[in-house]
Amino acid sequence: MANIKQIEKEIEKLRDEIEYHNNLYYHNNDPEITDFEYDTLVIRFKELLTQYPQFRDKGEVLEKVGNDLLDDGSTITHKERMYSLANAYSLEEVYSFFQKIYSAYPKYDFEVVLEQKIDGFSINLFYDQGKLQYATTRGDGFKGEVITSNTLTIADIPNQIPYQKSLEVRGEVYLSLPEFMRINKEREESNKKLFANPRNAAAGTIKLKSSEEVEKRKLASFIYSLGAHDSDLDINQAELLEFLKKEGFSVNQHYQKAKSLVEIKEYCDLWDKKRTELAYEIDGIVLKINNINLQKELGFTVKSPKWAIAYKFKAEEKETILLDVQFQVGRTGAVTPRAILEPVYLAGTTVSHATLHNADELERLDIHYQDTVRVIKSGEIIPKILSVNLEKRKSKANKVVFPSRCPICNTSLEKAGDEAIRYCINLSCPAKIQKSIEHFTSRDTMDIEGLGEALVSLLIEKGLVKTIADIYRLDYDKIRSFEGFGDKSVSNLKKAIDKSKVQNLDKLIFALGIRFVGSKVASLLAEHFGTMEKIQEADSVELEEISEIGEKIAASVYDFFHEPKNIALIEELKDLGVNFTYKQASSKSNLLESKSFLVTGTLEKYTRKEIQELIKGNGGKILSSVSKNLDYLIIGDSPGSKLDKAQQIASITILNEEDFLRMINR
Ligand code: AMP
Ligand code: ZN
Repeated sequence: MANIKQIEKEIEKLRDEIEYHNNLYYHNNDPEITDFEYDTLVIRFKELLTQYPQFRDKGEVLEKVGNDLLDDGSTITHKERMYSLANAYSLEEVYSFFQKIYSAYPKYDFEVVLEQKIDGFSINLFYDQGKLQYATTRGDGFKGEVITSNTLTIADIPNQIPYQKSLEVRGEVYLSLPEFMRINKEREESNKKLFANPRNAAAGTIKLKSSEEVEKRKLASFIYSLGAHDSDLDINQAELLEFLKKEGFSVNQHYQKAKSLVEIKEYCDLWDKKRTELAYEIDGIVLKINNINLQKELGFTVKSPKWAIAYKFKAEEKETILLDVQFQVGRTGAVTPRAILEPVYLAGTTVSHATLHNADELERLDIHYQDTVRVIKSGEIIPKILSVNLEKRKSKANKVVFPSRCPICNTSLEKAGDEAIRYCINLSCPAKIQKSIEHFTSRDTMDIEGLGEALVSLLIEKGLVKTIADIYRLDYDKIRSFEGFGDKSVSNLKKAIDKSKVQNLDKLIFALGIRFVGSKVASLLAEHFGTMEKIQEADSVELEEISEIGEKIAASVYDFFHEPKNIALIEELKDLGVNFTYKQASSKSNLLESKSFLVTGTLEKYTRKEIQELIKGNGGKILSSVSKNLDYLIIGDSPGSKLDKAQQIASITILNEEDFLRMINR
């Protein structure tokens, strides 16, 4: 085995050499070596870095490789469509899928290739003359986003392969669990929002602007299929995997051939059980007919191959111990029980609490302290307790009882109608004040930087803040005398608070914490009425004139603005100089100048009207039908025939809502 010192030396030498030639090539346009020689250096360098990641450098020279490739962020039409997979949620569905096929095609022997279904995002790599030309995401299946420079930082994706003909190669890019946890830990330390799971983290990473950042997060890949290819690669799936391996791709070693349903069951059960032992997440098994001729006979549906199916595992469940239950008082006074659990590793994250919803849920579970409970977490959903393992109940365990009084202010709790929720109705309950002030200052509302949970709690404790209005009457000299506060932090706080006075009316309405009024309804109200006074004066008929506002919301808004305490609060805010008028979003940029758009399907974040305002506000044009004049089609759920039509016109770029928002830096 090569001596480690020698390896380090070789890596250093290669790094210097590549840097030197990069410089000649990119800056002087005067290369000294052939492309082939250069690529040989790069391949060796990548290979060594993969094997000896400890010698990777910050700002690794590799990132600078490939700058002559297509720009990241543009879109490319896949040479062959990227399909999705049909799903099966039980083994019975899987069996019947294959039984149907093999009884319709009796001349073929039963042979299915079983692969782990990697939970990442799919990637398309296009090689020609043995060189990676570009990498794209799957996009809408027809066109993908170019991610070449970021992909070049992925250590196990080769820049160069022996195969010389042009070839699309496909696979999944993922983040290993240890790497995912490292990234989240780092984010936690710098107060950034955590990634919900490795898949989101991987997909977020590849879209980063800085390849240097991407390289720090060690993405990896498994390659398993082809797109457009020459007929010499019309080979069986198992042979294809071997071919890919030989070409230098990372191929998942756990694939297996099955010749019977029993073998399928064994493999699926095995990995369902052992998936937690893997260093990466899998969410099922992909089963593919091995024989290429049978694959060809079967062909594709509009969405997926008819010769493959994905068997999805059930969401992971685990047992852990209920250590305690906290009863939390929310902004509205609703009291919610929260289970404190012995930390357990589940579906990519460490789970240490779960929601118990309300008193009915406690009854349903008949939960006792120190119970062994079964928790489930699927995707981004908050962990939930499924059941209690009664066999493991401790003999003298106490039942968890829903308190009859507010755990903070001791006021007797009340039920609202036949809702299962119990409320603390004390208007000056410190917990409610704390939560409503936190809501008022948070990013989505008045956005007062620096006034978070801890400081709010301190201000309440010191008696400086009793209502929302008190935020605008703070005694800054007192705050300066608090431990840990200096001139700088106090002046920053004052600036942030002053700045919030000019927030737009929709933010203020949302910030007030009116029941059933989220950011969307707040915007509707602000836009429709234009001023706080008009909203205050509106009766329920006028409120219900807004099509999205029904009886329930209208009643809540009306009640809020007719409650004497709230009337007084709003009066105070006005006197303190808080903005009460709505400023229409005017033309904010010309980012979309001379570009035309059409929206189809249901969007998630915006109504049709809102997104059209955004387009116009940023200088874009709205067209009413799909034609050659259209530049972008924005699609939501169930897009319909406009999408089909747009797919026929190569110059139209298809975007989802997120892609679009990114275009205008939202
Ligand atoms: P879904 O997104 O749940 O419809 O599943 C389909 C996706 O699974 C494909 O588009 C691939 O990105 C992904 N996938 C993960 N592992 C494999 C595999 N071994 N074979 C095929 N597709 C896979
Ligand atoms: Zn209370």
